[in-house]
Amino acid sequence: MRRRLIAGNWKMHMTPQETEAFVGQFLDRLGGATDAEVLLFPPYTSLDRAARLLAGTDVALGGQDLHTEPRGAFTGAISGGMLRASGCRYVLVGHSERRHVFGDDDAAVHDKLQAALATELLPILCVGERLAERRAGETERVLTGQLDRGLRDVDEEVERITIAYEPVWAIGTGETATPDQAQETIASIRRWLVERFDAATAEGIRVLYGGSVKPDNAAALVGQPDIDGALVGGASLDPESFARIVEAAGG
Ligand code: PEP
Repeated sequence: MRRRLIAGNWKMHMTPQETEAFVGQFLDRLGGATDAEVLLFPPYTSLDRAARLLAGTDVALGGQDLHTEPRGAFTGAISGGMLRASGCRYVLVGHSERRHVFGDDDAAVHDKLQAALATELLPILCVGERLAERRAGETERVLTGQLDRGLRDVDEEVERITIAYEPVWAIGTGETATPDQAQETIASIRRWLVERFDAATAEGIRVLYGGSVKPDNAAALVGQPDIDGALVGGASLDPESFARIVEAAGG
């Protein structure tokens, strides 16, 4: 039985002070009542504050990205070990903004995923097609390529990985995949996992949906049989809206 995961990606938002206000309001509003795992991805500069405020709660923390190397002359970069030391259990790898704004290709995504595993972080591998690719009927080919290359060399460690299906055309646009579209695509990801690993392994791997998830569409999306949770961007910045998503989709 896969436990649902509801994650909020704050991107480049939230100072430490804003993080403090968010956490206070969110914890009050949620009151601890969910079966789902709840996870936040603050910017690096707010991780330490978030970790202190969330200590002793069930809300986990993750980094939005990591460098492939453990340390060195990489100005501006953050290593997996630094994320761990700042209280992170998870890390996003291959988020569409990293791929399309910062130019992370599948080789970089693969190396970052390996670096995450090596530092005992739990990677969330993001995959997704662009609008033109969906319109051209290439969604499955694009996702299969991202999965093949991202998970190259991964064997039993796959059990520590979560996959997030995030259609690029639905991220930050207000456009959401319909529950049927999301289910159909995530079912194809699970078929790929069965072929690449085996049925029992594939059955245990969580696959999230991300792309304009809001309080009013979360339950329908996460209610689909193959969707195990949500990766939420914009709607996770407001404690009330994120708490409503956790309640609606948390199971
Ligand atoms: C995201 O950042 O992963 C995301 C899905 O953003 P949004 O919910 O704003 O579309």
